[in-house]
Amino acid sequence: MTTARVIAARVIAVANQKGGVGKTTTTINLATALAAVGKRVLIIDLDPQGNASTGLGIPRTRRGVGSYDVLFDDVALEDAAVVSDVPNLSIITSSVDLSGAEIELVGATSREYRLRQAVERSAIEYDYVLIDCPPALGLLTLNALVAAHAVMVPLQCEFYALEGLSHLVRTIERVKRSFNPALDIHGVVLTMFDKRNNLSDMVAADVRGFFGEKVYDTVIPRNVKVSEAPSHGKPVLLYDMRSSGAQAYIHLAGEVLRREKRLTA
Ligand code: ADP
Ligand code: MG
Repeated sequence: MTTARVIAARVIAVANQKGGVGKTTTTINLATALAAVGKRVLIIDLDPQGNASTGLGIPRTRRGVGSYDVLFDDVALEDAAVVSDVPNLSIITSSVDLSGAEIELVGATSREYRLRQAVERSAIEYDYVLIDCPPALGLLTLNALVAAHAVMVPLQCEFYALEGLSHLVRTIERVKRSFNPALDIHGVVLTMFDKRNNLSDMVAADVRGFFGEKVYDTVIPRNVKVSEAPSHGKPVLLYDMRSSGAQAYIHLAGEVLRREKRLTA
């Protein structure tokens, strides 16, 4: 694939094959923080569970056309994007159809490139496209990694945080070799950090030892407001802007933008 990228957007895949590590939370809240400083942001919900769509309060009735149709029916991003209540933020929702996509992709033509092709065909300009990946390293996540300029890895500060990470790193290397040589690791974000628990500190130190400067300075604390926000269909930044979780995501967005300057220089 040598097609030139016509799209101005920077595409970041938020990936980790473990469930419950903060992928969706990070996608929604980073997107909101970027949108708040005037960036035009699109989320692509690539998880059949549709948590990003729910977390942004998009009712099922507005999820008619979504990421499945983009992958399989050549629907353009601009026709699938739904405007959210957050100014500057749209989302391509996921639907239950997507649960069959992993298998349907196996036999599809250019099965690893379908999302990338859709992004390259896109006519609307976004500054950032954030892809919320499912908890697996199958073809959906592969499509995200092939479409992306960079991958962001959320890691939960718990005992098993590093387990399975070598598999993810190997997958990223394989994608670079075979499909997308320019793919960067944007960074590793430590999530659900509990400052009362020594284990969180130990895990953070381990992860920094392994990934060095790739780990963002910003650490996302465990914060009850973050876990409550999705049931209100709101990013925590809108649910409780002053909460420690919201403030952390604002800091993370600042760090992401500074890193972006370096990566795109
Ligand atoms: P993933 O997308 O990786 O499966 P989620 O973002 O859905 O993970 O997070 C898993 C669960 O943990 C969700 O219920 C979410 O609300 C909660 N959660 C995520 N980040 C935090 C946090 N910083 N503090 C408290 N709860 C969190
Ligand atoms: Mg998720």
